[in-house]
Amino acid sequence: MTTDQQASIQGGLFGEEPLTAKPADEARISQIRDFIRLYDFQYYVQDAPTVSDNEYDGLFRELQALEAKHPNLVTPDSPTQRVGGSPVKAFSSITHRVAMLSLNNAFGDDELNAFDKRVREGLGINQVEYAVEPKFDGLAITLTYENGYFTQGATRGDGYTGEDVTHNLKTIRSIPQRLNIQNPPKLLEVRGEVLMFKSDFEFLNQQQITRGDKVFANPRNAAAGSLRQLDPNITATRPLSFFAYGLGASEGVPHLLTHSACMDYLESLRLPVCDLRAVVSGAGGLSGFFEKVGALRSALAYDIDGVVYKVNSLAYQNELGFVSRAPRWAIAHKFPAEEALTVVEGIDVQVGRTGAITPVARLKPVFVGGVTVTNATLHNEDEMRRKDVRIGDTVSIRRAGDVIPEVVSVMLNMRPSNALIFTMPSNCPVCGSHISRQEDEAVARCTGGISCKAQRKQAMIHFASRKAMDIEGFGDKLVDQLVDGDLANNLADIYRLDFNTLASLDRMAEKSAQNILDALIKSKKTTLARFIYALGIRNVGEATAKDLARYFGSVEAIQNADVDQLQQVPDVGPIVAESIVNFFAEQHNREVIASLVKPAEEGGSGIHWDAVIAQSGASGVLSGKTLVLTGSLPTLGREDAKALIEKAGGKVSGSVSKKTDFVVAGADAGSKLAKAQELNVNVIDETDLLRLLSEQ
Ligand code: NAD
Repeated sequence: MTTDQQASIQGGLFGEEPLTAKPADEARISQIRDFIRLYDFQYYVQDAPTVSDNEYDGLFRELQALEAKHPNLVTPDSPTQRVGGSPVKAFSSITHRVAMLSLNNAFGDDELNAFDKRVREGLGINQVEYAVEPKFDGLAITLTYENGYFTQGATRGDGYTGEDVTHNLKTIRSIPQRLNIQNPPKLLEVRGEVLMFKSDFEFLNQQQITRGDKVFANPRNAAAGSLRQLDPNITATRPLSFFAYGLGASEGVPHLLTHSACMDYLESLRLPVCDLRAVVSGAGGLSGFFEKVGALRSALAYDIDGVVYKVNSLAYQNELGFVSRAPRWAIAHKFPAEEALTVVEGIDVQVGRTGAITPVARLKPVFVGGVTVTNATLHNEDEMRRKDVRIGDTVSIRRAGDVIPEVVSVMLNMRPSNALIFTMPSNCPVCGSHISRQEDEAVARCTGGISCKAQRKQAMIHFASRKAMDIEGFGDKLVDQLVDGDLANNLADIYRLDFNTLASLDRMAEKSAQNILDALIKSKKTTLARFIYALGIRNVGEATAKDLARYFGSVEAIQNADVDQLQQVPDVGPIVAESIVNFFAEQHNREVIASLVKPAEEGGSGIHWDAVIAQSGASGVLSGKTLVLTGSLPTLGREDAKALIEKAGGKVSGSVSKKTDFVVAGADAGSKLAKAQELNVNVIDETDLLRLLSEQ
């Protein structure tokens, strides 16, 4: 479909007229099908949807209703009869032994009760037992294990033929290369979802922004885009995870009677299985689970878009069978949308703690993901231009959990003729300093440094935040007053605040002033990693701060390290190393740190932590680990394997005990393997070992 065609269809859909002049059902059916095909292509093939799932689902249901009204108009190629998108030619294709279908959706209690009723009537029983689990928001994958070894993995594709992404799946650490079982089944197909954890997604997007690369709209698109890479080396750098949720074809698997038994079996093979699953009875049990998971949703580490109910008995599943694109024995109960449409009323910029200038859309308030959203980040100028967000536009907003709301896409067809393009300012709106943007950076920055109040405020808010110094009650309202009133100008000043100063602030009762003082005192006992993270060094997140603390053991050692020494730390590359060196090169930063860690008796803030033993001498990926080799290792041979393990800081032992971290089992492994299984020690193969070593 050309862009013109797309625009003309959209004009009909979202424009003013069609409400009264709605096309006849037949024409409408064909129009919706065109839409859905386009959206499927953007979503499944390009991993870049242009409309919200909510809108898509609305269209899909409208089509289902129209087709139910006119069964003679149902065609085999209608989206209601098909699954997903066609596999892309760039990957070789794999025909699934057992089709990978979709799921029907239920929205609300009525549809849920109707599902339970259909199942009961279909089986002729009064009460049904269901296996219930979260609906992961990633992409469906099948893994094939032959004689216990992972041999092939594919996307769902059109349900019958998927894309061969074996090499990419091999880079996902939670997918075992070998099943944890002595007599593996001849064939086992595992069905599940590849996804990206929310924190990994945020980290990845942050990296993408730093590098000036494309920012992903949500964890699902990031996971799909990362897995469907032609180069596995790129996939390997993307933090992907996997949850198994079912079986495909199998041979030599124990006789399993229920879905929940299948899941327990997969878990025993050490496949990652979600522990939120349960078995419940009847429609009441289903809605109870829905409530429970709904309450947990925002706190979960990964995105889910609903829960899935499956008739637990496999015999009953068989009896109920399938209808076109989905099983009759399962249904997805979707949560209310986390995306909504609203209007951009203005755009301005915010200044971050490192001076980053972020354009922010000021929105007509809209209720989404359980809260009213009034602002959404546009990330940076390039992103704003790429999405072509203008003042006056109607946009789709996404908010998931604690993630900052963001603009997913612009409804171009709804753009008013007076929509305004926003021009980024050339001077900081807070301190007036020049804003500069380096050639290789997507982010523009205020050059004001510590003289910029906005940067000082953000640095303080970050310093006090939960994962940093965890100073309870030290929020942005308080920081605004402290900085605007010149009561605290740097991080060390925070600890010089006294009761009278705090109690004299706006909206601060005596009790709250005392609470803040108590929180400040409590925060002084911390950890080295938290302290480093709290300093707010550009590109140093929580994980890097932990690595630095572990490697160097003290602030002085980090402060005195050069770019090369810093790069010895696992995961620290040249950009991060340079940010650290630049940070400590500032005399002001050194002075503030010295004052923060100086004992209170000597006039400092007295921040302290338990001593950390630096591991710089033994920094290998296997440092502190004990491995046992057994069987023949065809690529490395025993001697080379031992040398490489020792070089990576590990120890090779001759016998397996509870203290063994890994048993590396080659062909013809004997009693050591059996012992490892008995003691529940991790068993890996030579490929796993090579992968571990390559992480050096
Ligand atoms: P679906 O996502 O509604 O349900 C089927 C899928 O759920 C399975 O293939 C599997 O991948 C997944 N799943 C997650 N957890 C599961 C579990 N515990 N057990 C079984 N399966 C589980 O169906 P679909 O066909 O993949 O996608 C349709 C949905 O995708 C639409 O409802 C819409 O929300 C979205 N979509 C959006 C656009 C867009 O442009 N925004 C386009 C196409 C599809």
